[in-house]
Amino acid sequence: MALPIKGVQRLSLIDYPGRLCATIFLGGCNFRCPYCYNSKLVLEPDSLPTIPEEEVLNLLRERRGFLDGLCVGGGEPTIHRELPDFLLRVKALGVPVKLDTNGSRPRMLEELLKRRLVDYVAMDIKAPLRRYHEVVGREIPLSAIKKSISLLRRGRVDYEFRTTVVPGLLSKEDVLEIAEFLRGSKRYVLQQFRPVRALDPAFTRVKPYSREELQGLHDQVSHYFGECKIRF
Ligand code: SF4
Repeated sequence: MALPIKGVQRLSLIDYPGRLCATIFLGGCNFRCPYCYNSKLVLEPDSLPTIPEEEVLNLLRERRGFLDGLCVGGGEPTIHRELPDFLLRVKALGVPVKLDTNGSRPRMLEELLKRRLVDYVAMDIKAPLRRYHEVVGREIPLSAIKKSISLLRRGRVDYEFRTTVVPGLLSKEDVLEIAEFLRGSKRYVLQQFRPVRALDPAFTRVKPYSREELQGLHDQVSHYFGECKIRF
């Protein structure tokens, strides 16, 4: 089966820290976060045309010297068995790869890390472990999330953990609990929630936390990490 590449952004200045990258979006996800911005990719990926892998590889070839990375997002990329073979082809072009993942498939993540098919991993930490099922809308083994966190913390590939701070879903105490759990990690990013195109339309009416509130959270937890940032 072909890798379900459902979208390509030819240039992004923000998806891969420190690099100009192209971003691809893979269809399908095993979570149902109510605030998800990519509901069509998650709920009806088959309604979107699949972009051939070759088209992405050609884009990377043509823009060699200008683009210096590929960000692979979704949906959830690690649910696709075809991912390692595709990344092997990307790496053969000498292009660094950033993976965005929800961390629910540690075996795939481990394979990608071991084979050096990714150069940077951004793993979403959706909630304190005790509230994971509630926040992601699925029963998933928490051991998978813990294993992925541990793989990244112990590994040699650059990474960040990141949490989208969604009012009504995550309280400030929840965020402090997540940060405590991740304490000692290399990098942690608090992401501002954007009330657009949410999978659950009720979340398009949720007012994001203010800059001051996010800054306050940041200031409480930043000393737990090598680096801690807010992404607006
Ligand atoms: S936010 Fe990410 S993990 Fe959650 S449903 Fe959307 S694509 Fe899946």
